[in-house]
Amino acid sequence: MTYPDFCSPDFKQAPYWWDRSPRPGLGEVELPAQTDVLVIGSGYTGLHCALETARAGRSTLVIDAEDAGWGCSTRNGGQISGEIKPGYEELSRRHGPDQAFALVREARDALEWLGEFVAEQGIDCDYQRCGRYLGAHSPRQFDRLVKRARYQPPGLEQPLRIVGRYDQAAEIDTDYYHGGLVIERHCALDPARYHQGLLDLALGNGAQVAVRCAATRVTRTASGFRVDTSRGPVETRELVVASNGYTAGVTPWQRRRIIPIGSYMLATEPMAAERAEKLMPANRVFSDTRRIVVYFRRSPDGRRLLFGGRVSVFESDPLKSLPALRREMLRILPQLEDLRISHSWMGFVGYSFDNLPHLGVEDGIHYAMGYCGSGICLASYFGHRLARQLLGQGGAESAFDKPRFQSRPLYSGKPWFLAGAVRYYQMLDRLG
Ligand SMILES: Cc1cc2nc3c(=O)[nH]c(=O)nc-3n(C[C@H](O)[C@H](O)[C@H](O)COP(=O)(O)OP(=O)(O)OC[C@H]3O[C@@H](n4cnc5c(N)ncnc54)[C@H](O)[C@@H]3O)c2cc1C
Repeated sequence: MTYPDFCSPDFKQAPYWWDRSPRPGLGEVELPAQTDVLVIGSGYTGLHCALETARAGRSTLVIDAEDAGWGCSTRNGGQISGEIKPGYEELSRRHGPDQAFALVREARDALEWLGEFVAEQGIDCDYQRCGRYLGAHSPRQFDRLVKRARYQPPGLEQPLRIVGRYDQAAEIDTDYYHGGLVIERHCALDPARYHQGLLDLALGNGAQVAVRCAATRVTRTASGFRVDTSRGPVETRELVVASNGYTAGVTPWQRRRIIPIGSYMLATEPMAAERAEKLMPANRVFSDTRRIVVYFRRSPDGRRLLFGGRVSVFESDPLKSLPALRREMLRILPQLEDLRISHSWMGFVGYSFDNLPHLGVEDGIHYAMGYCGSGICLASYFGHRLARQLLGQGGAESAFDKPRFQSRPLYSGKPWFLAGAVRYYQMLDRLG
């Protein structure tokens, strides 16, 4: 295979994170004939749920069609926000101010919960409260950021700091942004190391994880469900769907409610420490005000740039869209022209029609999904919360139980409208 000239000699079409945390070689698990809880999907949602049900003494089997954590949970950008996409005002219009407050508050609290979880369990995953720099891609967007910092909803204030264009070099060495906003609470971690720590915990607490074992059919039985898998049938009392952006026809109700959207990432080869330092002196995570979002950060060792976004209208092979993704990186940081690309990969983010994550029970099947790109924190929290609901533990209710998990007429899981929506948002972004 020949790669573009800008690729390094050791270029890989695989997540950068997998160099340090290769997909775990789990031994073949003999499938039990029966289990108390069966979880489809071995990402953050599935493993957090399994950890809690196993800890509560329920026999728990997690299955994944691929390797453990093969989905988004080991492919993401490692930026943690605890934010939901719609803001308080929009949520107030939709659900009323009390419900809006409860939704925003709970998502924000989930960020604190995750930090405590990682610390208490001693998961070594480069977790740090580094803060985010949100760049304004136009003067108009900068004005909006100023308003956002000044007028925060009462009770939902958080430390925000406006940075003008001419002070921006302390955050990022670019002229692309018209200033920006520092959100101090946001954090970063190494997503695959976090996943590995979580997997070790779930296994250590008695959960079983069967990989290369796809659920192919779900049938209701008198005592629960029969799940046919590529490795044979399993009877389960409780069934949990934790497949998010990879949800397929085996659970059609959930599939009709999730919009899988590809997000694409690259990693550069390492750069000199002083150069990396000058590029992003405060070493935060970065994103900007465009609707077609880009996100980037330095790698945990501080030496590489990890850059992600969506540059193609249709889904594409990450290698095909790599030149455009690199051009996007160079628009913001043109001084990286000489730096070669060492990794390129993609994954399917699970969006919902109302841009909110959802958890609940449908026809006896528990589910949590639709994190809209904020899944490190929310998938972890929802997986945990879902387990507590399933176990009937007190205090497990969530503000996210209430909003209806919507679908649309004629939608069966293939987002035929995506290309049109991407073009439309690209146009709005160009207009600033
Ligand atoms: C490129 C990229 C960058 C991202 N960046 C960020 C970020 O910076 N911050 C952030 O918070 N979020 C980010 N996200 C989103 C985040 O990674 C996800 O929201 C989160 O990992 C979802 O976890 P999950 O456990 O619900 O699903 P996943 O980790 O996607 O796991 C789902 C699993 O289900 C399995 N599966 C599907 N169907 C079946 C079946 N029939 N049988 C068995 N197994 C099945 C799949 O193989 C997969 O392993 C990003 C996502 C991508 C793709």
